[in-house]
Amino acid sequence: MFLGLFLLVLVIKEIIDFYLDIRNLKYALSHKEVPDIFKDIITDEDFKKSQSYLKDRVIFNLWSKAFDFIFTLLFIFILYPYIEKFVLSITSSFILQGLLFFGIFGLINLIISIPFDLYYNFVIENKYGFNTMTPKIFILDLIKSIILSIILGTPILSILLYIIKSDPNFWWKFALVIIVFEIIMVYIYPILIAPIFNKFTPLEDEDLRKKIVDLAKRVGFNIKQVFVMDASKRTRKQNAYFTGFGKSKRVVLYDTLLSYPQEEILAIFAHELGHYKKRHITISMLTSIIFYVFYIYITFIIFKFAPISKYFGVQKEFTLLTYAFIFVSSLFYFLTPLVNLLSRKMEYSADRFSAELIGTPYPLINTLKRLAKENLSNLYPDPLYRTWYYSHPTPSERIYYLLTLEREGKNENNNSSN
Ligand SMILES: [Zn+2]
Repeated sequence: MFLGLFLLVLVIKEIIDFYLDIRNLKYALSHKEVPDIFKDIITDEDFKKSQSYLKDRVIFNLWSKAFDFIFTLLFIFILYPYIEKFVLSITSSFILQGLLFFGIFGLINLIISIPFDLYYNFVIENKYGFNTMTPKIFILDLIKSIILSIILGTPILSILLYIIKSDPNFWWKFALVIIVFEIIMVYIYPILIAPIFNKFTPLEDEDLRKKIVDLAKRVGFNIKQVFVMDASKRTRKQNAYFTGFGKSKRVVLYDTLLSYPQEEILAIFAHELGHYKKRHITISMLTSIIFYVFYIYITFIIFKFAPISKYFGVQKEFTLLTYAFIFVSSLFYFLTPLVNLLSRKMEYSADRFSAELIGTPYPLINTLKRLAKENLSNLYPDPLYRTWYYSHPTPSERIYYLLTLEREGKNENNNSSN
């Protein structure tokens, strides 16, 4: 009964995932013309290129998801029980067994993912001129992430394993440790971890720096430093973000963004400022805390009451929990649209904030168009697909929203002057 339910949830998740991808591709390819709103900047050639980019990515996704699914089945039926047996034969210490178990699992997972990463970056992203990563950077990134996950993973896993072993009702302590870890990461990520992978230098353009600082000051934010990140060593895609809390708080612009007109960079920055000012960062953090607690609690219940060891022949708490996690994460896949709905709401509100702060929506509109063109965005995402997966409204939805705001704003002004 449990085995049937377990497999059913896994399979349904997989089917929906596949179905949405295919639907999205079909919908996009059924359109032959650039949407009116982009006609001034996106040529037919750009549009065809964006469709072909989408096609390549969807096909790649389907393959990698199919492999993932096969590996998941392979793990739950053969590899986890086998790894468990292996670690039990090596040591009698529960914590060491657990560390070894996750270490071996992580290593196998990494080895499986490397060919996919290589193909994605050096074939697909290369074909469309996005990839700027050299094989050397790829290998260095890999080594750095392995070292980092050992340094961060070992202590946290040891604590979690200790809690599991010492308290039969461990779920809330488990959740607490995860939450504290997440909060610590938010603080230390910009200062200690991001610099391992990228160089951050203070923005040299004094004029732009001053304008950014002034804009932030207008809404009560004291920003001392604006950093430029050397994103161009991996990709030509652009971005800007706000990161950290308290003392580690900083503005980061991708160096790939610096060729944009100043007013557009400021509009993007004002959007990021909107996320801060409207407390989106705090809301996201609180939501994810609630989410974690809920997630861990359900996993605990499955761990406690589902006959996992009967069906899969495993016995150790860490292995049983791994099965429970797989089951629950498949269940939580069905919450994805809800999480993204909240995220899209926040994006609209940050766009609105930007337009109001700058006093005009046009720089943001222009930059959205430019980003859609340069990142070869899918101009016709399937409605169901985007409801499920899109964390941001589509560029055209955002542009229409901004134009509506502008029109409403004008009407209000007219009314008040009449
Ligand atoms: Zn945003």
